[in-house]
Amino acid sequence: MKKTIKKCILCFVLITFVFILCSCEKKSAAMKNDYFVLVNKYSQLPDYWEDNLELVDAKNAWDEDIKVEKKAYKQFVKLKKEVDKALKEYNTTIELDSVYRSVKAQQELWDDWSNDPEKGIDYVKKFVAVPGFSEHHTGLAIDICLKKDGELIYDNDKMIEEREIFSIIHSKLSKYGFILRYLENREDSTGYTYEPWHFRYIGDKKVSKKIMEENITYEEYLNSIDDLTSNLEACKYKIENMLSDKIINYMYKDKVKNVRYNIKKIYTYKDSDIDDSIKSLKIDKNDVAFEVEYQMEPADESYIKDLTVTSGIYDKKIGWITDINLVGILRYNEKNNKYILDHLGTYW
Ligand SMILES: [Zn+2]
Repeated sequence: MKKTIKKCILCFVLITFVFILCSCEKKSAAMKNDYFVLVNKYSQLPDYWEDNLELVDAKNAWDEDIKVEKKAYKQFVKLKKEVDKALKEYNTTIELDSVYRSVKAQQELWDDWSNDPEKGIDYVKKFVAVPGFSEHHTGLAIDICLKKDGELIYDNDKMIEEREIFSIIHSKLSKYGFILRYLENREDSTGYTYEPWHFRYIGDKKVSKKIMEENITYEEYLNSIDDLTSNLEACKYKIENMLSDKIINYMYKDKVKNVRYNIKKIYTYKDSDIDDSIKSLKIDKNDVAFEVEYQMEPADESYIKDLTVTSGIYDKKIGWITDINLVGILRYNEKNNKYILDHLGTYW
């Protein structure tokens, strides 16, 4: 009798354990940090990112404490070893400069500077990344500086002058899963001018090799992926591009200058934890449904009223209309091999 009770309890504990494990897995599958994450001026850091981020302690060139994402740092150490060896004849080594910066720290900097009467909001908008929209929040972006003949070179213009040294450094990046993020004369694609010192860890060495060999931007790489269900970051980028086109060129023709996005969730047909607002949309094999919060920058202040009729709040301080929410689906059309935006609707 006692044995049976014990067995029953053991069974119950086991079933509960398996159930907890399964439900954890389901939840974390959608919320996992992805090394392919796209963060730029228009794509916001995912809300869950910093909670899931594994950081390690490191020192920068000035011996100050800094933090970097665990795997990115491990690979950087290997990269540095090889690069320093290759730069021996130049009596040069690479050192860490700026790495991880939290959204909170960026917000504090933003607030301090915009409240400073000597700087003000226009100055801040020009020189400080908008909190949530800097790649340094990911922990995967690494800015380096050079130590040449015992002297640190960290000034942007002076670093750009070191072309020979940087071409050697860049040739080693992809072997360790890094890419050069802001290519020369590619501001149209990345939103940034040339930064030979800013490297981004993307984890997959095959992909970093492809990007570096083809000399393409990360945005161009994501844009080249056809099967959107295989790479959710490519999928996010596609959604953002298609939505921007729709908002700027059709919905509010000429009234909106820029749109930026915080994609909250992406669903494929495989997902079982689909939100109610999405449930009514039938997701087929190659389709992707999404929930997004976005912000619009009015082309002129006189359009604010028109742009906030149905939803959104105008934030005077930053000059953007915020808090606009949307659900929709990217429908795959097998006939022409293209995606279309479908079932766009607001949600609260
Ligand atoms: Zn940087």
